[in-house]
Amino acid sequence: MSAAETPTAPDTAGSAPVVDAAVDARWLARTIELAVANVAAGGGPFGALIVRDGELVAEGQNRVTANLDPTAHAEVVAIRAACQVVGDFSLAGATLYTSCEPCPLCLAAALWARVDRVVYAADRHDAARGGFDDLEFYELFGRDRSTWELPVDAVRPGDASAPFDAWLAHDHRTDY
Ligand SMILES: [Zn+2]
Repeated sequence: MSAAETPTAPDTAGSAPVVDAAVDARWLARTIELAVANVAAGGGPFGALIVRDGELVAEGQNRVTANLDPTAHAEVVAIRAACQVVGDFSLAGATLYTSCEPCPLCLAAALWARVDRVVYAADRHDAARGGFDDLEFYELFGRDRSTWELPVDAVRPGDASAPFDAWLAHDHRTDY
């Protein structure tokens, strides 16, 4: 269990979300329901949902194979749907519940979505038993990138910073 380290966000929130174990258990039960139902429907065994102010905002199920979208993880699907519901690219104040520990993609999506809290049921080891690469990718991120089979090459042309120059010079940009 100690082989992989979980990247975690620094705890900078002024007020920690109120944790209620019974409430967590109820929402997690729903994510598991979504995940099991998704298997029956031919999809991956993952379900997630977004809750804000005690209310369900949106649910998501893994849609990787159905949508031919390797990024359509349940958490990402739930985040996308929730943002459409609230009409905002930020889910600050919300909690992401998921049937399985978020993979690096989904954990980063949670960070980008600015949720206040992530709660999961199964973990990366359960996912590995199911044949999923969550654990492997966590271990990969813990290793020096030069050891990866995937080359990730920094090529820096002279105008590499032009997009950021344009961004910073744009008075009406929408910061996020
Ligand atoms: Zn994921």
